[in-house]
Amino acid sequence: MAKSKPPVFIGLDLGGTDLKYGLVNSDGKILISKKIRAKISEGQKVLVEQLRAATRELLSIAAEKKWRALRIGIGSPGAVNFETGKVVGNSPNIPGWEGVNLKNSLRISGIPTFADNDANCVALAELIFGAAKNSKSALCVTIGTGIGGGLVLDGKVYRGSSYSAGEIGHTALVFEGKPCACGNRGCLEKYASVSALMENASKQGFDSVRALTDAAKGGDTAAAALIAEQAAYLGAGLASAVNLVNPEKMILGGGFVDVYPPFLKLVEEEIRKRVFPAALLKLQVVKAKLGNEAGLVGAAFLGSK
Ligand SMILES: [Zn+2]
Repeated sequence: MAKSKPPVFIGLDLGGTDLKYGLVNSDGKILISKKIRAKISEGQKVLVEQLRAATRELLSIAAEKKWRALRIGIGSPGAVNFETGKVVGNSPNIPGWEGVNLKNSLRISGIPTFADNDANCVALAELIFGAAKNSKSALCVTIGTGIGGGLVLDGKVYRGSSYSAGEIGHTALVFEGKPCACGNRGCLEKYASVSALMENASKQGFDSVRALTDAAKGGDTAAAALIAEQAAYLGAGLASAVNLVNPEKMILGGGFVDVYPPFLKLVEEEIRKRVFPAALLKLQVVKAKLGNEAGLVGAAFLGSK
């Protein structure tokens, strides 16, 4: 009897800079992974065509390898209607993206197709394979250029009444604070993202994340103070989320958490200092498990849970 073709899942992770896409197996292992510069500035049509081309490329790789592609999923910045696949809210990262129907755009060969917000894909990947596995409630926060958030409630990704849940990065932290690309002022990500940190750090002569974290590890008090301040802002913002949701897990991801391990503890201390005691009884503050690949893996598993 002929062996049946092993199933694979297609995932696309569209970011503000790059498009990552690949084939993932049933265990969440990435079999094929590619990264190209996303054609953000060339307009909606060109970008959609780039996504279609990436999908077709993966379909032909799967056919060549004699794998059976069972699903196509894409994670995108902005609010995405999970039912229709339409981008319903603009993202400052991709101007003019609102209104695109990602599900229809990628439905190329009759394979079931799904689309969601990128941070929700990260939360889904952590829920199925990572730090939120077996958790009923968790908040997955990714700290990078901005701050992304995905919420798990009752063991499922919670998308909200209009697909905008989890946008913790745009919580108002400082009344009348720094202007944000979202149009508001004083958003958490203007104070606690890696971009915000480096904006302050560059004024003190640290010209890269590596230079800053190396200095802090080597005992430079100015470098350590800059990072501690960022961690305090982040902890304060996340404390509000913990008070609201009372999650089992607060999961922190993004390259910076790996580059500077003490950061996690600093954020946790600030959260614990500020949160209602009852909300701390079961709270664990942990590092994301899937790293940079979470968005791609989560996209490939959209529609599975
Ligand atoms: Zn904002």
